[in-house]
Amino acid sequence: MSTNQSIRPLTTKINNNGNLEIGGCGLVELAKRYGTPLYVLDKETLLGICKDYKLAFDKYPKMRMMYASKALCNMAVARILANEGFGFDVVSSGEIYTVYKAGVDMSNVLFNGNNKSFDELSLAVDLGVGRISVDNFHELELLEQILLEKDKKADVLLRITPGIECHTHEYIQTGHLDSKFGFDLTQIDEAVELILNKYKNLTLKGLHAHIGSQIFETKSYADEVEIIVKEIARLNEKFGLNLNEINIGGGLGVKYTESDNPPSVDEIARVIIHSLEKALEKYPIEPPVIYIEPGRSIISTAGVTLYTIGSSKQVPNGTKYVAVDGGMADNARPSMYGAKYSALLANKPNCTDALQKVTIAGRFCESGDILIKNIELPNPQTGDVLCVFNTGAYNYSMASNYNRVQKPAMVLVNNSQSDIIVCRETLEDLISHDVIPSGLS
Ligand SMILES: *Cc1c(COP(=O)(O)O)cnc(C)c1O
Repeated sequence: MSTNQSIRPLTTKINNNGNLEIGGCGLVELAKRYGTPLYVLDKETLLGICKDYKLAFDKYPKMRMMYASKALCNMAVARILANEGFGFDVVSSGEIYTVYKAGVDMSNVLFNGNNKSFDELSLAVDLGVGRISVDNFHELELLEQILLEKDKKADVLLRITPGIECHTHEYIQTGHLDSKFGFDLTQIDEAVELILNKYKNLTLKGLHAHIGSQIFETKSYADEVEIIVKEIARLNEKFGLNLNEINIGGGLGVKYTESDNPPSVDEIARVIIHSLEKALEKYPIEPPVIYIEPGRSIISTAGVTLYTIGSSKQVPNGTKYVAVDGGMADNARPSMYGAKYSALLANKPNCTDALQKVTIAGRFCESGDILIKNIELPNPQTGDVLCVFNTGAYNYSMASNYNRVQKPAMVLVNNSQSDIIVCRETLEDLISHDVIPSGLS
């Protein structure tokens, strides 16, 4: 089994007090010590998935693994993944700056996005970001302008929409034809011509695609690899080029609930490498450098969120709502796309008495702020600690200050030790950007 096929962090256990523990740390103690809501990240699980990826792809030497930072970006995570040999896919000045400050080798960073600004591209050029994946004609022109001003060159990929429909939520599909991302296949030649003849400070290295997220079908990757290799061979032939970089994006799924069955990293790797080998027989190009950009599958399983149960409400002849001290501001996914999660009560994980079907409500002022519908928990009470699994990806990174609530802290657990890696926001943090104009009485 690979790490993305586990709902819970690999170190999840029940300790001598009968409480849940992760990374050797009791979750009830963590909740007490650091407060809730609390994001907890298990280092061993994170290293486990890194190892899965390294082992799975070691058959193909020209692999470059770039962690998609948007899944969870902070300096400690950047440091851990850089130490594991990962590069970084970044999509904003904020992510560029974070990995830069964490000491990441910037030549191993790749900048994506469908509307990069002048300032963001300038920062990327100034800090020596290794690859820029250019998404559209406007960006080609903008980047050339910046490079001319700075008298610099940049190595670029072209982001394309390969026309692959994969079965995932509409909002996280990205490779179908009517997508906001990338050049349509019919526009690539024009983009290449512009780079060759007009935008002389850009050096085209290859093509990039990303077909979506939370993908369970391995075949989507096989199709994608074939399409990109074919395009590269065609462009090399037509323009006399020697493009040899292919970025196939991220997207491997994880197991949020028992009904999710994502393929293992090894299965994905075998499909990708096999499809590549077949495509290389058919289309005459040198074995290319392959970039992959996994985000969710790297970080999701390692993370859990702890909440404290407060109020509850039994609707007469209806739902029993149990409210926690967080919700849509620290985990937007259930309200945004109906995402499902698994959870246990950390202080009675084993208890099978008095099981009740309840709905976990968040504390934010929206009826849609529901974290989990219809989950069976053993008589949930005020003060119980709820542990929601698989929250490492797209939780903290999408967190907001809705209702003027402070963003939670994050701790890294490993070998019975816990360390803060993101501090809880304070009330002072919340008002620190507010300004009352002097003319206001
Ligand atoms: C979001 C994104 C990824 C990461 O996707 P995951 O599903 O988290 O693996 C990789 N590449 C690009 C271009 C993306 O937009």
